[in-house]
Amino acid sequence: MVHEKIQSEIRKAKTLHAAHGSALALDPVILSLTDGYRRAIEKTGTSMSSMGVPAACTACVEKGSGSCCFQGIEEGYDHVLLLANLLLGCDLPDSAEVPDGCFFVGSKGCKLTARYYFCLHYFCPDLMQVLGKDRVQALLITLGEELSIGWQLEQAVRNRLAAIPQRR
Ligand code: SF4
Repeated sequence: MVHEKIQSEIRKAKTLHAAHGSALALDPVILSLTDGYRRAIEKTGTSMSSMGVPAACTACVEKGSGSCCFQGIEEGYDHVLLLANLLLGCDLPDSAEVPDGCFFVGSKGCKLTARYYFCLHYFCPDLMQVLGKDRVQALLITLGEELSIGWQLEQAVRNRLAAIPQRR
C-alpha cells in the first residue's frame, strides 16, 4: 500500500498522544519548548508572508507548473515529529486528500504545523528568483531558528518517552 508507512507513523503518534499527551503537555521543559517552537513557526510564517512566498507558491500551483509537495516526501516524517504536531494542536489526517501528492497536502496547502528540514529548506529556482539572494538568506536564518527549537523539542519528547516504563 502506498501510504502504509506514514499511516503507521501517524497511528503511533496518535497512540502516544492519547497515552502520554497530557503528561507531556504539563512537563515544564516540553511546555517551554512547545511554546518557543510555536513562536518560531509563527515568525517563519510572518516572514514568508511578508516576502510573498505563499502568493508565489499558490500562483505556481494554479498555473499547473507542478507542486513541490509530491508523493513520497511524507516519508521523512516519523512518529515523534508527528507527535510534536499533535502537541502543537495540529490534527493529523488519516488519509491523503490529493492523489499523487504528499500525504499531508490539501486544497489549502500543508496540513502540518511542525515540518521537517526538506519541507522548510526547499526553494525552487523560480522562488529563488522572486526572492533574491538577500531575502533567501534572511529566511534561512529564521528557518534555522525554527528547525533548531523543533529539534530540541523532538529530543526532549524522545527522552521523556524513553523514561516511561513499558507495560508487558
Ligand atoms: S510542506 Fe507539507 S504538504 Fe508539502 S511536502 Fe512538506 S509535509 Fe507535505
